[in-house]
Amino acid sequence: MTRSEVVLVLNAGSSSLKYQVVRLPSGEELLGDHVERIDRGGWDAAFREVVAAIGAAGLSDGLTAVGHRVVHGGERHTGPTLLDEDVLVDIEDLGRLAPLHNPPAVEGIRRALAAYPDLPQVAVFDTGFFTDLPEVATSYAIDHDVASAEGIRRFGMHGISHEYVAGRAAEVLGRDLQDIDQVTLHLGNGASAAAVRHGRPVETSMGLTPLEGLVMGTRGGDLDPGVLLHLLRHGGYDADRLDDLLHHRSGLQGLAGTNDFRDLVAAIDAGDNRARLAYDVYCHRIRKYVGAYLAVLDGADAVVVTGGVGENVARLREDALAGLDALGIEVDADRNREAGGGPAVISAPSSRVAVVVVPTNEELAIARKVAELVGD
Ligand code: ADP
Repeated sequence: MTRSEVVLVLNAGSSSLKYQVVRLPSGEELLGDHVERIDRGGWDAAFREVVAAIGAAGLSDGLTAVGHRVVHGGERHTGPTLLDEDVLVDIEDLGRLAPLHNPPAVEGIRRALAAYPDLPQVAVFDTGFFTDLPEVATSYAIDHDVASAEGIRRFGMHGISHEYVAGRAAEVLGRDLQDIDQVTLHLGNGASAAAVRHGRPVETSMGLTPLEGLVMGTRGGDLDPGVLLHLLRHGGYDADRLDDLLHHRSGLQGLAGTNDFRDLVAAIDAGDNRARLAYDVYCHRIRKYVGAYLAVLDGADAVVVTGGVGENVARLREDALAGLDALGIEVDADRNREAGGGPAVISAPSSRVAVVVVPTNEELAIARKVAELVGD
């Protein structure tokens, strides 16, 4: 990239639209906002709001490209990809694997193509970072022919965030990314873990879809597949009801009746036992994954925590990583409390593994990838 770029980044979620206008190479955020609670059919209004805000800030003419976060790129789309109708059709089709995420991205892309028809527009995929996962990590142990015929394999998501925070944590620690091994934890409404060796991922917790792995806001993560068979055969469930259970009525929501950590913590403090159990299950799952990934990596230099929950809930960081002294992880309670959203090292000086809180910035990461692709 030789010239300066001004990139509009759109991150369309299931019920919200985040956007940022980023100047590069400085990374300065010129404008940004989070339009929340978009219901079905509300996309036109939300998008008009974004376009109007960009116009009002006098930034419309200066835009050089648009970047879109897309959760699932499937086998075909690995790196950042210039958008055209064919790519859009693929993204739409991959909605079967990411039904909460790809459809809103398509809504955003269609509107952005109409609003800024002369700008290059690029999809950056959450699965992209995990393209080179080793086969032992991408394979499900089911009939090989069935898996091949149906395209059943593990992909991994939140890659934009895992890649970004792994890089930032190395900077915070003053280490070369190529020299260290890390376990990264993205704890937001969606949540996932990754094992990163020398900057490249070797394992991650999400699979074919974003349902696998950690406990999340409304998704429960790992589940014995026998539970699904049981509900189908004996519970009167069909695919649609299972879909609803797994995407909307599981995780913290399913266990405690709320998917928001602020409400969960308030309920625990008010003595709610279901909220307490949900919190403990959430922490227990994180601890299991950290232990497993330390085994995959044969030890690590750092555990990195990010995401809306990871950045904001200090007691969750302390509780989830408690009792891991034998594995070399010791969170320092004072450092942790004072860390805010980071970047900050929150481990004790005696901790063999550094624990680092890093605020993620998917929009900046996307803008950089877009500028790299479209820049001169
Ligand atoms: P997404 O996966 O949608 O990008 P975020 O990373 O923004 O989600 O995380 C959203 C979640 O973070 C919220 O549902 C909430 O549980 C939690 N969260 C955000 N801010 C706070 C806060 N100040 N205190 C406690 N929890 C918070």
